Amino acid sequence: MVQGIAVVGSLNMDIVVTVDKLPAEGETLHGRGMSEVPGGKGANQAAAIGKLQTPVRMIGKVGTEGNGTALLRSLEDAGVDTSAVMKTPRAPTGIAVVTVDGDGHNHIIVVPGANGELSKEDIDFQRHVIEQCDIVILQLEVPLETVAYTLRLAKELGKTTVLNPAPARKLDEDILRYVDILIPNEHELQVMAKLDRIDKQTLEQAARQFMEHGVGAVIVTLGEEGCFYADCDRMVLYPARKVKATDTTAAGDSFIGGFVAGYLASRDADAAIRQAQIAAAITVTRHGAQSSLPTRQEVEAVQT
Ligand code: ADP
Repeated sequence: MVQGIAVVGSLNMDIVVTVDKLPAEGETLHGRGMSEVPGGKGANQAAAIGKLQTPVRMIGKVGTEGNGTALLRSLEDAGVDTSAVMKTPRAPTGIAVVTVDGDGHNHIIVVPGANGELSKEDIDFQRHVIEQCDIVILQLEVPLETVAYTLRLAKELGKTTVLNPAPARKLDEDILRYVDILIPNEHELQVMAKLDRIDKQTLEQAARQFMEHGVGAVIVTLGEEGCFYADCDRMVLYPARKVKATDTTAAGDSFIGGFVAGYLASRDADAAIRQAQIAAAITVTRHGAQSSLPTRQEVEAVQT
């Protein structure tokens, strides 16, 4: 019986400030406007899956103040079960302060807050959520030891594990051996595999290297170029769908949500990648992060 997906990761409130130009050191400027939008890679990926009407539960941590409550509400609106998101009085909800100028250049400061408090004990406390799902997805916005512990537990329980290694960092074999499907973007791949360029040869080389370390399959998202897929039987480049991109925020999260939802339904990477590219292509034609993620009906309308 198909049970669903567990996302173990971050929830952030993104505080977006628009300015005419970014301030220089020591300079004080008036901003044009400010908005608070739900974010965090874990929450975005959970929302992407929920909007596709695939059963999804989030394991994470927020503070006890209003931001945490607002983040939970936005996830619930997207169809995510938030009963395993814990509240801590010890830290505020994670935030990202994003300053964007008129040309789209930005500065981003992330304060992990409660995300940094997600511990191995919390994962033990929520073990039933991992037991009850089929696929577990993680990113790297919660402590690395929690990520490593969860991956190992999920494999011991016979689950499929997916890791989006973002933000980029080098990972050792002790983590990679518990990853069934690794989904980095180009930048993350460059950091992880220490590549100075990305082309067919380096993609294949890096994928082989990860698979030697125990990863089952690798998908590298390549922006408007699409994505590269590798497992022990095949290596394929999937071109992206042709659309007019207006805002690529959350493209990767939309891709991952679309992929995992598709993979849960079919256990076929090829079909899941096609769904992922449709979902991500819709996302890049719209402004915003969670608000730009497509519904199941919108994705199916493209497929048929
Ligand atoms: P990230 O947001 O992590 O940087 P990418 O930029 O690699 O992720 O994009 C993820 C996926 O989104 C790509 O694999 C592709 O399917 C889709 N995508 C991104 N940019 C475009 C674009 N300009 N046109 C069509 N699809 C796109």
